[in-house]
Amino acid sequence: MKCAFCEHRCDLGKGKSFCGMYQEKNGTVVEIFPNRWSTYSASRVESVPFYHAYPGSRSMIIGSAGCNFRCRYCSNGFIACQDPANVQDVMYEFEPEDLVRMAQKLGCHNIVFNVNEPAVSLPSLEAVKHYAGKAMIPMGCLTNGYTTPESTERLAKVFSFIHVGLKGFTDRFYREYVGIRSVEPVLKNIEALSRSCHVEVAFPVIEDVNDHELFDVAAFIAGIREDIPWHVFRLLPEHDMKESVYPNIERINQALASCRDKLHYIYFHNFVGSDWVNTLCPECKQVVVKRFSLGCSGDRLDEFMAPENRCSSCDTPIAMHGTKVSWNARQIRSTGGAKT
Ligand code: SF4
Repeated sequence: MKCAFCEHRCDLGKGKSFCGMYQEKNGTVVEIFPNRWSTYSASRVESVPFYHAYPGSRSMIIGSAGCNFRCRYCSNGFIACQDPANVQDVMYEFEPEDLVRMAQKLGCHNIVFNVNEPAVSLPSLEAVKHYAGKAMIPMGCLTNGYTTPESTERLAKVFSFIHVGLKGFTDRFYREYVGIRSVEPVLKNIEALSRSCHVEVAFPVIEDVNDHELFDVAAFIAGIREDIPWHVFRLLPEHDMKESVYPNIERINQALASCRDKLHYIYFHNFVGSDWVNTLCPECKQVVVKRFSLGCSGDRLDEFMAPENRCSSCDTPIAMHGTKVSWNARQIRSTGGAKT
């Protein structure tokens, strides 16, 4: 029997699957490790980084184990690239309603799955969504975007805001650096998800490998919608690519400047002092959202100057999923209730 959660379409009758997270049981595909989580912690939504979803909010970050990609530079390789069977002793086991209760206790406005690929734990996440929906807690995720059409639809029902990693723009790049055959399903899924969810796109740039693709990627995203936020990450040499050089900041700055007329919202991450962490009004170019960045996953909202998600200078709409949320909006007081 074939698994249809992602485009690997593993034959589960032929030994272990690629991600090691599903098996066949009584004619159906079931999770081997349901309701097991590698982390649950509160973080700023900007650190994920979602820059255009519930700015300022507190997210509960969760993840499971296993992945359908083998990125040579994976920063979560210790959990995503291991055989999930070998890491079960460090996993937390929470029933879905307990996980949602934990998000409430931590005062989180939303839940974001961002350690590994959500498709490898989709049934568990659907169960979490059931209780999160009742508690009015929106859910977001980071995905490789390599899901099958039916799985993409299920993903879009669980998550209302989604970051898709577009790691390169050619089949050759995906074959050599990620371990899959083609970029095509990822491109199709960015398009499909952007029709039903809020989508942001992440692109890790590798010196002399995919840095020449920046312009093509910007053009592709703009062909779907010019207000899709695009996050370019300076690759941090990790996992199997520890020997790589850090990409040249000035060269990427120049390349991104030439993409500015294509996309409204471009960001450049992973180094201190980036000029590309604020949101500019696409019309008058005033800064409408100011952020503070420590360079690597330490981002936070500094100033939000787009009341009602409109530029305060020229009234142009700013693409935003939800509105600004105070960090303490859902913090439980000792006397009970939430701060306003
Ligand atoms: S989700 Fe896992 S088991 Fe299913 S097709 Fe993808 S890699 Fe294979």
